Amino acid sequence: MTTPPAIVILGVGAQATARRVQSLYEGAQVHGLQGRVSDADNAFTELGAHLRELYASGTPIVALCAAGIVIRCIAPLLANKGVEPPVLAVAEDGSAVVPLLGGLSGVNAMAREIAAALDVPPAITTSGELRFGACVLNPPDGYTLASLDQGKRFVSDLLAGEATRIEGDAPWLDDVQLPRADDARRAIRVTPMAWNGATDELVIHPRSVVVAIDKTATAAATGDSLREHILEAAHARGLAAQSIAVLLAPASLMSDPVLAHVAQALQIALRFAADDGSQPGAATMLSKTLRMPHQAVDDGDASIAFAVAHAPLDPASVGRARGKLSVIGLGPGDASLMAPAARAVLTQATDILGYETYVEMAGPFRADQRVHATDNREEMQRARHAFELASAGRRVAMVSSGDPGVFAMAAAVLEALDEARGHPHNEAQMEAQTEAHTQAQNAAWAAVELEIVPGISAALATAAQVGAPLGHDFCVLSLSDNLKPWPVIETRLRHAAEADLVMAFYNPISRARPWQLDKALDIVRDFRAPKTIVVLGRDIGRPGATLKTTTLAELKSADVDMRTMVIIGSSTTRAFRAAETGREWVYTPRWYK
Ligand code: SAH
Repeated sequence: MTTPPAIVILGVGAQATARRVQSLYEGAQVHGLQGRVSDADNAFTELGAHLRELYASGTPIVALCAAGIVIRCIAPLLANKGVEPPVLAVAEDGSAVVPLLGGLSGVNAMAREIAAALDVPPAITTSGELRFGACVLNPPDGYTLASLDQGKRFVSDLLAGEATRIEGDAPWLDDVQLPRADDARRAIRVTPMAWNGATDELVIHPRSVVVAIDKTATAAATGDSLREHILEAAHARGLAAQSIAVLLAPASLMSDPVLAHVAQALQIALRFAADDGSQPGAATMLSKTLRMPHQAVDDGDASIAFAVAHAPLDPASVGRARGKLSVIGLGPGDASLMAPAARAVLTQATDILGYETYVEMAGPFRADQRVHATDNREEMQRARHAFELASAGRRVAMVSSGDPGVFAMAAAVLEALDEARGHPHNEAQMEAQTEAHTQAQNAAWAAVELEIVPGISAALATAAQVGAPLGHDFCVLSLSDNLKPWPVIETRLRHAAEADLVMAFYNPISRARPWQLDKALDIVRDFRAPKTIVVLGRDIGRPGATLKTTTLAELKSADVDMRTMVIIGSSTTRAFRAAETGREWVYTPRWYK
């Protein structure tokens, strides 16, 4: 087991058992429900969300609570079949150990270990016979079956009384009670070579092959032609396509979409060899990059070469990945208003960057994730830092609240990239660039896989709370004159007010900008009636949220702070109170008089 388990407890009654389980696994931590457990290694606030997060990140789970609770919590994730970590329920007092999930990742072995330590029998529910079927037909990570049909026939033969010998290395089969005999006619063959069609064999392929291609192999290739080329070359060498774990290419091809397409089509990892400018052939690239014991399978064609490692490969140990930078929006605060795509980015990130408050909002993070929280407001610096990390092969999540493209990091990230391409926007940047950015660095930044994942912006979240004030044409304005001259803001306010647009003010006021909001309201009052509806949403989607409806006449800048969204209605924005609930709704009709 590579990742130590998370031992999850809901109350102090489970603490003693938890510590006994903990002592079995190096690095294991006890996760306690906040408010109920005080001295856990790790705290969580909501059991369901926490268990799902652990499960999704592949962390083995030992939950000291009812099996039913654990099942209900994890159930929503079970449809997505992927690598499944072991999940066990253990009675608080240590009287029962129930393996629930992860039959192929060693849950029964864990159940036995824990049960032995607690001196109770484990509740193993997989019978021996079924177990060898399951394990042979559904090999663990790092191995694949050559053919499921062939496998089913083979297992039914074994169930009918045949014995088998094992050829090749498959350590996990040692734990399976197979009817084994060294002189058996039938054989389980563990090999990277293609199955030759023999029916008395069950062929299992270790994912141990790396295929390397050089620049000439990709020149003029399409995704399909390159994939065919790789499959034919593997076939010519007798290698099974299913044994290929990694496609290795020179770093200079990092942003080549053809490679990404091929890796995805073949469902193999795409990794890159260091580019020292010498343009080595494929075979040389393999020998320089592979650090594990391996054998070269070469036929003299310099553009494509294969190497077979002695055991299944961890793709992460071969060369380096193309780095990725995801600029994501967290939404206003409430986790349920964050897009699943943004949540997935957070789960997969190796590094999380952002303003402290937002990084906290995005957490908690695993011990293996690096968090670079900063109270530094220098956004360009943060954007460059993100590219430095990503261009070194890390998966970086840059977090903003709301939407990352609305007065937030996405534009700063693109500006940093644009600057690195050699488009400095002012002289200071020009100087910084000639000194700091070499050509190679620019290329490395450009090779980073960049994506922007949207979020629910504060104006939209606030509008939804109060009804539909943005139901007709509207505009969003930042009242901050940190990055734009105040006269520009005044002009825009005047035009927007005159055009009768509903207006959403971001960054309405701060200690450093005390007078700007009053000035802005003066301008708006020149064009809009005193009874114009105004909505103030503060900390929407966060603890202590407040929502207030007022009018332009009554609005005072003292009612507003930097955590407030100000929505100024148009001439048609209206409000009414629902008789039954007493709740006030605000909306702007979709039509105009
Ligand atoms: N990218 C963010 C906006 C950042 S600018 C977004 O799309 O929402 C910061 C301003 O947004 C704050 O000054 C405040 O006016 C507004 N804001 C951000 N989060 C808010 C929230 N939860 N409730 C109310 N206003 C918020």
